[in-house]
Amino acid sequence: MSADRIVIVGGGVIGLSAAWHLARGGGVSVTLLEKDAVGAGSSARAGGIITGHLWSKTGVEARKISLRLLHALTGELRAYGYAYQAVGCLNLFAPSDWPERMRLLPLYDQTGVPYEILDAAEIRERWPLLAPEDGAIGLFDPLGGYSEPDDYIPALARKCRDLGVDIREGAMVTGFARQRGRFTGVFVDGVPLDAKRVICTVHSWTNRLLAEAGIQLPLKSFVHQRYLTAPLAEAAELPAVNANPYAAYLRPAKGKRILVGGETAARHEFGTPPLAFGMDALDAPRGFCDRLRAQVQPLLPALAGNGFTEERVGLISIAMDGEPILGAAPGLPGLIVGAAFHSGGFAYNPVAGKLLAELATKGETELDVAAFSPARFSAAATDDYLNLRLRQQDAFLRRH
Ligand SMILES: Cc1cc2nc3c(=O)[nH]c(=O)nc-3n(C[C@H](O)[C@H](O)[C@H](O)COP(=O)(O)OP(=O)(O)OC[C@H]3O[C@@H](n4cnc5c(N)ncnc54)[C@H](O)[C@@H]3O)c2cc1C
Repeated sequence: MSADRIVIVGGGVIGLSAAWHLARGGGVSVTLLEKDAVGAGSSARAGGIITGHLWSKTGVEARKISLRLLHALTGELRAYGYAYQAVGCLNLFAPSDWPERMRLLPLYDQTGVPYEILDAAEIRERWPLLAPEDGAIGLFDPLGGYSEPDDYIPALARKCRDLGVDIREGAMVTGFARQRGRFTGVFVDGVPLDAKRVICTVHSWTNRLLAEAGIQLPLKSFVHQRYLTAPLAEAAELPAVNANPYAAYLRPAKGKRILVGGETAARHEFGTPPLAFGMDALDAPRGFCDRLRAQVQPLLPALAGNGFTEERVGLISIAMDGEPILGAAPGLPGLIVGAAFHSGGFAYNPVAGKLLAELATKGETELDVAAFSPARFSAAATDDYLNLRLRQQDAFLRRH
């Protein structure tokens, strides 16, 4: 049994997705270890927005796969209460920021990623709830949209269990077992558990756990928050919007609500939490939700007189170069890492799980993900980056 067991550490969307791919592929036994409850990290706090309009070739190709898989997942998970909301994603830009994004359009053309360029008047006409200023440019992704984390996570966990994944909640991995430089398993609350491969998807806890194996990766975590309005009279006819000129994002939400989120640019990094840390302990800065509402209201006048009723606060983690970190841990066969998905881990999860599962079963991936490899960082650059104390505004701005 243990000879072919693959252990996944972390029950967020990345770990659950890896479990789903592995279980569907068959031929291996899969154990997922989550120190808290599935989704208890950032995943249940996310906005769940996805767009295919990224900034690197690997990112664009990976997101194409995620978007395709979300449709397959809807087929498999509808009976479990999940469906991808294909409302499209409008990426908004101020005129000064547009030239940088415009340079990516040839990449979208080459990779077959659809888009539509809209001016402010066209946006107002298509979605009367939106009131962007004249001059704003919209890059509309017709394939984008969102998943409701509260539907997706329990549905995926149930599906994984039905496919035979052994999901153990309240199971904290405290270290790795090694023999002759190779991982042979993990310690769960100090007790060894054998495994052929270990997939580590513990997000902001990554460097805390990997330190035990002498590995560090150049990633930083930042506090991030999102809110829900009270129910509106009618469901909002809106796409998901990456409202860059308003330092925010929004989308329609279940129960005729609207979800709005945003960064706290001046806030310092959070640091690497201890293994026992839980994200319920996080707070948004006092008054931030009122400031965010005031910031977004010019774009979404429906927010006037409609306060936020629910706040969720979590962490996003960003690598030194702003790209995800996904691949075999350098020099330590048997350990595979998936981390630093910035504020786009929900969007990446279907493809990230696929790539992690391929690495665990075949040692290689169908898509070339060298650009995401943990081996792309030197030890010196990693040390230098980890020794900096950054504010969020100093890290790469990566919205979904
Ligand atoms: C407010 C907010 C809004 C966001 N909005 C979006 C969005 O709209 N779109 C998008 O794509 N992304 C969004 N994100 C980012 C997204 O939430 C993350 O990138 C994603 O959830 C990361 O998934 P994960 O599985 O890596 O991490 P997590 O969900 O944090 O899962 C890691 C899990 O590992 C467990 N764990 C840690 N250490 C151990 C251990 N030693 N043993 C066992 N278990 C352990 C933790 O308890 C946790 O459950 C948002 C994030 C926040 C905070």
